[in-house]
Amino acid sequence: MENSKKYRRWLDDMQLGHPLTIAGPCSAETEEQVLETARGLTGGRVTVFRAGIWKPRTKPGNFEGIGKFALPWLQRVREETGLEPFIEVATPRHVDEALRHGIRMMWIGARTSANPFAVEEVAQALRGNKDVIVMVKNPVNPDLNLWIGAVERIARAGIENLGVIHRGFSVYEKTPFRNKPKWQIPLAFKATFPDIPMIIDPSHICGRRDCIFDIAQMALDLQYDGVMIESHRDPDKAWSDARQQVTPETLHDIIHRLMVRKPRAEENIHRQNLQALRRHIDILDEQILELLAKRMEVVREIGAIKRRQNISLLQPDRWQKVYERALDFARENGMNEEFIRTVYSAVHEESIWQQKNGQAPPKS
Ligand code: PEP
Ligand code: MN
Repeated sequence: MENSKKYRRWLDDMQLGHPLTIAGPCSAETEEQVLETARGLTGGRVTVFRAGIWKPRTKPGNFEGIGKFALPWLQRVREETGLEPFIEVATPRHVDEALRHGIRMMWIGARTSANPFAVEEVAQALRGNKDVIVMVKNPVNPDLNLWIGAVERIARAGIENLGVIHRGFSVYEKTPFRNKPKWQIPLAFKATFPDIPMIIDPSHICGRRDCIFDIAQMALDLQYDGVMIESHRDPDKAWSDARQQVTPETLHDIIHRLMVRKPRAEENIHRQNLQALRRHIDILDEQILELLAKRMEVVREIGAIKRRQNISLLQPDRWQKVYERALDFARENGMNEEFIRTVYSAVHEESIWQQKNGQAPPKS
């Protein structure tokens, strides 16, 4: 994808608004639910109406979507409300049905984008449809190249109206998120392809309603191009993802409260860059803390072994080596040696504590 510049055009040409604001139910359930939700979403910044009609479910036996029978409902949404329908496609059959019913916007879901065979089949089914807009969700697993590969397959089939959706990543450890954001991955994607529009899907990152606003704001501060938020006329009764959907009313309130930085005003550009850099610092700090916590976990394991074998906790030779390596790194990377000395003394002190006690020290 040498010339990623051309991939931005659709966002400006289609006049879908900035930031691009997509909302709608996780799944289309009934014609009434689809139309009532769509009507509720008009009158604000929403220009695109999402609704899953083929639902990839983790386990069999759950609601797997209405299928092609919901496509005429979406045509009615466009006729009645002017909102542009947006659906997930995962197989060539989905693409054919969607095209036959005049669908112009499709996304590739996180489970599909993790599978190159499936993406390739979808890409081939899309070939020749230059007007279609395709957005590729990040794969479920945190693999930047797999995401890039999926986008490249769609691009090689001649699709120029391309975008990506950050919906977070599955991780084994327990986190407050349904799918951990791992911001460094979408940021790396943006750095590689700055002209491919990126939007945030805070609904699937959070898995619950109360963090949608914060994640969406964070993304706008990082200069994302839009948001996609799940909205249902009666969220608690939704047939899928009930906990993370919001009413159209709440949706309007969230969108209204989001601070949008105007990209064109000169003076704003500096402020916007500063904000983006600060967000980047927050992400790096979080990584530093996560690594420190992991280091302490390993340290406690070493402590347990030493205690069992009755070895002294303090091993000055070993520590000297760790210390010298850190100082070399500091010198090579233009950091003050005194600073690294201070940081490492603190890390050492804490490590000894944790080895001895197998836990964190009491608050002083
Ligand atoms: C969805 O958007 O409803 C969906 C199934 O998302 P994901 O592919 O991100 O899990
Ligand atoms: Mn969903």
